[in-house]
Amino acid sequence: MNTATKAAKSRSVYSSRAEAAGETHSAGPVEEEPPGRAVPTGSFDEDPPGSTATERDRLFGHVPDGAWNDWRWHFRNRLTKVEELASFIPLSSEERAQLKLVTLKYPLSVTPYYLSLINPDDPDDPVRKQAVPSILELTMGMVGREDPLDEKGDSVVPGLVHRYPDRVLMVLTDICPMFCRHCTRKREWRNGGWVRSPAQLEAMLGYIRGHKAIRDVIVSGGDPLTLSTPRLEGVISRIRAIEHVEIIRIGTRFPVVLPQRIDQELCDMLSRYSPIWLNTHFNHHREITPEAAAACDRLLRSGVPVNNQSVLLRGVNDSVAEQMELCHGLLRIKVRPYYLFQCDEVQGTEHLRTPVETGLGIIEGLRGHTSGLAIPTFVIDLPQGGGKVPLQPDYIVAKKKGELLLRNYEGQLFRYRNPRTQPEPVPESLSPLSSADADLLLETGVRVRS
Ligand code: SF4
Repeated sequence: MNTATKAAKSRSVYSSRAEAAGETHSAGPVEEEPPGRAVPTGSFDEDPPGSTATERDRLFGHVPDGAWNDWRWHFRNRLTKVEELASFIPLSSEERAQLKLVTLKYPLSVTPYYLSLINPDDPDDPVRKQAVPSILELTMGMVGREDPLDEKGDSVVPGLVHRYPDRVLMVLTDICPMFCRHCTRKREWRNGGWVRSPAQLEAMLGYIRGHKAIRDVIVSGGDPLTLSTPRLEGVISRIRAIEHVEIIRIGTRFPVVLPQRIDQELCDMLSRYSPIWLNTHFNHHREITPEAAAACDRLLRSGVPVNNQSVLLRGVNDSVAEQMELCHGLLRIKVRPYYLFQCDEVQGTEHLRTPVETGLGIIEGLRGHTSGLAIPTFVIDLPQGGGKVPLQPDYIVAKKKGELLLRNYEGQLFRYRNPRTQPEPVPESLSPLSSADADLLLETGVRVRS
């Protein structure tokens, strides 16, 4: 069967399945209906930045705009079975058997929107690698740890991780619109879909109230935007009511995997509890679509700054060229490249991990070749809850008393006088310029550098 025939078959299989299921097949026990209709258009007067080259027409051309722009439709129609996936992406019978095995341990969930970003004809597609399971999740599955960051060990009450003195992480749910194959919390996927109970939530809030050093609360998951907007507001308003909490941060991948969720109702709600910051997770420039750009724009216009935390992944974004394109694309949609994470040593992700030197090489390839605003901080989140450590290429070639030898981005060497902690008398040869000397230099056009 050629690709075009397969795609046509996909459409009819999908169409009839959706109709038969009343468009309600579910990706597992979701505790509540994801609510809210997306605003179908962004607030751009002109075309927003971002690529328009997706497979929507080819794979989902039969889906009306009303459904396509409704995040609940995507959420209900997540692909969770290998056979469903195989109706869109060519998979041999051997691959299907392998992937079924993988999904017994690490389930599958892809939104139709994210699937439309994948080139079904390219097994090495960098977007596909983030969503489609690989047998390597099992064959290399003993490498690494289930909970490398020891989040369980740092949990002060269920769902509340307190690692750093002034901030806490609230894990509200284990439900996500997509299961990213490199996820640090993929150990949670088998737990069947939960949202914190009112009692658990109260215990978390009680802890925060009782610890006045906490000034920054990170609301995460799973993905916290799977909660309805009113329910999320119930949590956020109670955090905001705690006097010593200065900022609230939301960690979500919705702008990337289901940007329709960032609707006006959500943005209006968030704007009522400012300052709220949102960290999202673009990993590849092809994820920066007009829909994603419009979602970020709605957040920004509502006073919610958006930062990006990408994960360095083998075959996805492990080159200077791709990171440059990703970071430039983010700046064009006014999203700040914040962190580039070394992929954590999570069981089932080893095939996607890269040597630390790859990340250092990328930062070196960016520094000096683009503006500093486009360069994320490369970070390792240390095992056993050691926290984040930033890594930089070493630009100090030699260091001796009073002087450094530094190399620049072009490899040229420069001597740099290193001032002492206590100022010393200036040697005669470096005596300050007299006003007569300065006038003379100004007349001759010589620039004096301090
Ligand atoms: S959205 Fe975040 S928490 Fe959910 S699977 Fe992806 S990386 Fe993990």
